[in-house]
Amino acid sequence: MILNDPSLLRTKSFINGHWVAEKSGKSFKVTNPATGEILAHVADMGLLATRDAIAEAADTMGPWAARTAKERAVILHKWHDLIMDNQDDLAVLMSEEQGKPLAESRGEIAYGASYIDWYAEEARRIYGDIMPSPAADKRVLVLKQPIGVVAAITPWNFPNAMIARKVAPALAAGCSVIVKPSEETPLSALALAALGERAGIPAGVFNVITTTAAATVGGEMATNPVVRKLSFTGSTPVGKLLMKQCADTVKKVSMELGGNAPFIVFDDADLDLAIAGVMASKYRNSGQTCVCANRILVQDGIYDAFAASLKQAVLGLKVGSYDEENVTNGPLINRAAVNKVERLLEDAVAKGAKILTGGGRHHKGALYFTPTILTGVNREMDIFSEEIFGPVAALYRFDSEETAVEMANDTIYGLASYFYSNDMARIWRVSEALDYGMVGVNWSGLTNALFPTKRHRLAGLNSRGLAARAQNTASMIILKLNISALAE
Ligand code: ADP
Repeated sequence: MILNDPSLLRTKSFINGHWVAEKSGKSFKVTNPATGEILAHVADMGLLATRDAIAEAADTMGPWAARTAKERAVILHKWHDLIMDNQDDLAVLMSEEQGKPLAESRGEIAYGASYIDWYAEEARRIYGDIMPSPAADKRVLVLKQPIGVVAAITPWNFPNAMIARKVAPALAAGCSVIVKPSEETPLSALALAALGERAGIPAGVFNVITTTAAATVGGEMATNPVVRKLSFTGSTPVGKLLMKQCADTVKKVSMELGGNAPFIVFDDADLDLAIAGVMASKYRNSGQTCVCANRILVQDGIYDAFAASLKQAVLGLKVGSYDEENVTNGPLINRAAVNKVERLLEDAVAKGAKILTGGGRHHKGALYFTPTILTGVNREMDIFSEEIFGPVAALYRFDSEETAVEMANDTIYGLASYFYSNDMARIWRVSEALDYGMVGVNWSGLTNALFPTKRHRLAGLNSRGLAARAQNTASMIILKLNISALAE
């Protein structure tokens, strides 16, 4: 791996401002999924180091929180600028350990940095409230204060952005943070820490603990009373376990867990727009995102045309290593991921689905999978209820809007959904009927630093991104918040 700045390749954990190895010298291998090449041996930390890190993070939080919001913002802006200055190196590191094409890695670095930029500004606007008082001689004030030490556990599919978007708001608010990145992709996390150190984030305020002992280190983060908030992105079973573990010390938790996103294409949709949307949503990161289109429901009247156009688009994808020219799809993360995609495909075909293109591993190497389209998929197949996490588009045919909505909602997941239509009445009906926190209407770009995550029900018209491509199509993202009481 060739970096302009080789000092961004770090192999020790970053705790309380020091780069530390595990006391016994224990380390684990980080490999390139495209080649199997060993990239680094990284410190494999354990329980004691985690406890120490949490205690030190608590010690350093006070002075950090006591700084003015502007002082914190200046450091965050500097961190953002250093990340963008080193975008190429960070992208190479990410592609080496994760496999995604360089263009996607570069995009992720900028996307992650945009959260740091955004929250640096938000830090300066953490206003309180003075409310009408129930008594003439009393006053009621709302004061926003940092919650305390925050722990973040992140996955491998977005090795930079999942960290940036958890850490930036916490640091902006005056909290200190301990991140446990995925054991598959620790190098991106450590490089972020190296740049944070250069930006002047004080020792102990931002820590990265690398480990293969996820249950031990994560368990300590979830049960240690000093940690006041745990933010997790990953699988549903681990999320549920962490929520249970957090209950004893009554921590706040933020969970982004599995998805089974429906992508509905109605007869009246703009076909080209829908194809562009599904290509981005389904095949980005080789299908390894939690908001990936998992079930593509296509109405009778447009089904054949949609399948034919999608096939053309998929045949244009290029599978390969991140450093090959024009590559669009890298390898899957590991053997288990390949096995799972294969199992779902075999089950679907055994139950009657047809392979329109692709259909198996790719000759490029052990972890590559050919971009695939399955037609004639139905609910009896495992692929309907399980997250694919691979480059397989499963096409379901439906006749009525009612059937589509009912099928779409027939899952335990409620993360993301998409639909394409040009009928305004339908757009409102289906937006509200889809039982999902995020609904992309004629637009598959669901996440952005500007979007609220849990604040409001929001409908934002997209007036820029797609305007040139689809001048007659209204596109929007609707983020829903489940409320149990009006005052919440
Ligand atoms: P995935 O299947 O996407 O790898 P995981 O939920 O297994 O999803 O992993 C997401 C993150 O959770 C990773 O950082 C992983 O190391 C961590 N993790 C896995 N098991 C546990 C656990 N028992 N406790 C805490 N963190 C865990």
